[in-house]
Amino acid sequence: MTDNIETDVVIIGAGPVGLFAVFELGLLDIKCHLIDILPKIGGQCAELYPEKPIYDIPGFPMVTGQGLVDNLMAQIEPFHPSFHLNEMVESVEPLGTPEAPLFRVKTDAGTTFTCKALIIAAGGGSFLPKKPPIDNIEAYEGTGVFYAVRHMHMFKDKKVLIVGGGDSALDWTVNLQPLAKRLTLLHRRDVFRAAPHTVEKMRSLVAASEMDLHLGQVVELKGEAPLLESVVIRRDDNTTFEVECDVMLPFFGLTMKLGPIADWGLNLRENLIPVDTEKFETSVPGIFAIGDINTYPGKLKLILSGFHEGALAAQKVHRYVYPEKKLLFQYTTSSSSLQKKLGVAA
Ligand code: FAD
Repeated sequence: MTDNIETDVVIIGAGPVGLFAVFELGLLDIKCHLIDILPKIGGQCAELYPEKPIYDIPGFPMVTGQGLVDNLMAQIEPFHPSFHLNEMVESVEPLGTPEAPLFRVKTDAGTTFTCKALIIAAGGGSFLPKKPPIDNIEAYEGTGVFYAVRHMHMFKDKKVLIVGGGDSALDWTVNLQPLAKRLTLLHRRDVFRAAPHTVEKMRSLVAASEMDLHLGQVVELKGEAPLLESVVIRRDDNTTFEVECDVMLPFFGLTMKLGPIADWGLNLRENLIPVDTEKFETSVPGIFAIGDINTYPGKLKLILSGFHEGALAAQKVHRYVYPEKKLLFQYTTSSSSLQKKLGVAA
């Protein structure tokens, strides 16, 4: 399906900094769409440390990673931002002029956006799956090998092999087991790093013969690519055995790579995007970079720095979106028009 969406601003990255930018843009009547490659909102806070306490968010003596994301979502709710999750921005094409920028943004899911300004809040870049070192694995990707579960129904009535011992591997084991024709979990050793209650649930399914658990490592994929038929597994003692499967889901964690951002014609410095510190604009007028992805003298990769950068970028974005309007500085405490936008006016 190809969508064509016209909006004021596209924000790449739904991490904490992209989320707060929605708030600052919303106060200035600027509409935006957010795109994130991950299936959930919250960037590093939600993906890497949802339960860890953060102590340096102004006004919160302590808030967890997920708690911060939940509060940011509540704060931007009045502006009804649109989220496009599970989509990676692949290309950015400039269509306008430096004075009146216009961009066409395309994702790997085929969604196309036209926008007057682009905010890159892409953190360390895209989270990409770590791949197991198996010969020819690429030939099976997308048909027999998947690194994420985008739609559970794809695995209905399939012989599914999940590989890994962390939260993702164990969560998907218990979630896909009822759907799959037969589910097998494979891990190098009989110790799991996942939440104890999920491990317990998995063990009870094994005890009831409702799924299989094997120890070892996949060393070979069999079947005429891209169709997978079975995998060869090597045990610690070097003996091997074969397990039939239609799909293999390896969950070996995520690594961060800059990804397609490197191809968008921006000046880059050590995989970061240099910006000015007045507007946080890049070398391309109309494209802004905020949060962990940018660099400037004295930059601190802190969430609070990204919040400040979003507020200042929004001021300049306003000039591109409403070139004829003068921007008045206002406080949310005292401006009834801002309070109306937030739905809190008396
Ligand atoms: P991110 O949170 O990285 O979000 C960027 C998003 O962009 C990601 O979701 C990614 O999937 C998406 N993306 C990237 N490229 C694309 C693309 N091409 N298309 C679509 N989507 C894309 N900071 C603090 O201030 N205080 C702390 O105590 C603190 N503790 C931390 C503890 C840990 C363990 C870690 C790892 C970090 C910690 N940080 C802390 C750092 C903080 O998490 C980051 O500064 C913050 O997440 C940056 O926010 P961001 O929105 O810029 O980027």
